[in-house]
Amino acid sequence: TEELLRNSEKQRVIGELAAGVAHEIRNPLTALRGFVQLFQQGSAGHPSYYQVMLDELDRINFIVSELLLLAKPQAVHLQERDLTVLLRNVLMLVDTQAIMNNVQILTEFEEGLPLIVCEENQLKQVFINLLKNAIEAMPEGGDVKVQVRRQDEDHLLIRVTDKGCGIPEDLIPRLGEPFYTTKEKGTGLGLMVSYKIIQYHQGEIEIESGPDGTTIDVILPVELTGAVAEIG
Ligand code: ADP
Ligand code: MG
Repeated sequence: TEELLRNSEKQRVIGELAAGVAHEIRNPLTALRGFVQLFQQGSAGHPSYYQVMLDELDRINFIVSELLLLAKPQAVHLQERDLTVLLRNVLMLVDTQAIMNNVQILTEFEEGLPLIVCEENQLKQVFINLLKNAIEAMPEGGDVKVQVRRQDEDHLLIRVTDKGCGIPEDLIPRLGEPFYTTKEKGTGLGLMVSYKIIQYHQGEIEIESGPDGTTIDVILPVELTGAVAEIG
């Protein structure tokens, strides 16, 4: 029964997502069609049209691949990992974006933390999402802090703090919803995917936000208990 429930929940979520994606990619497709028609009518078009078309295609590609990550059952490889090593790898990935945006990422990692059981690539995805959001929230640049410490005997706490624009309080409950975004080029998929992944890891995400910035806590158990469903 549990598996049946899980499957129907999964189908419901994917159904909702499919509806959202259809909506989300219709605009860039309409734009692309317009350009093709223009060319068909013999118009050479302005060279900048090509860049617009490429950007629109990239956007569709990005949305679809972020979605696939969620919809497709991943081959799950739960392994013991050092969270601080994992985070340092993530920091390398987002470093260029941080530098380009005048953002400095400061770390405070407690030493001697236990290894945690996790699906490494999925967890990386979560922290990439959180750090990208932190950077994007600070268009003027500034500091983002990443802290890792023991929360209690069986849990670790990862805290990402930015001094960015903040999230209006009434919007916080909507953050797990697909396609909720306040960004011109946002997808609104990052946090939803992150919630899913942390849920799978039997952890929690807590968000505190105000006009002075945002603090996101991810609390992860060191061990996973019971049978673990596939992600998605
Ligand atoms: P996206 O980044 O593509 O918009 P997300 O799911 O990652 O999608 O985030 C959804 C929305 O949540 C963002 O558009 C933004 O409004 C808000 N948000 C998330 N993180 C932050 C943050 N650190 N500071 C301010 N707003 C945030
Ligand atoms: Mg995001």
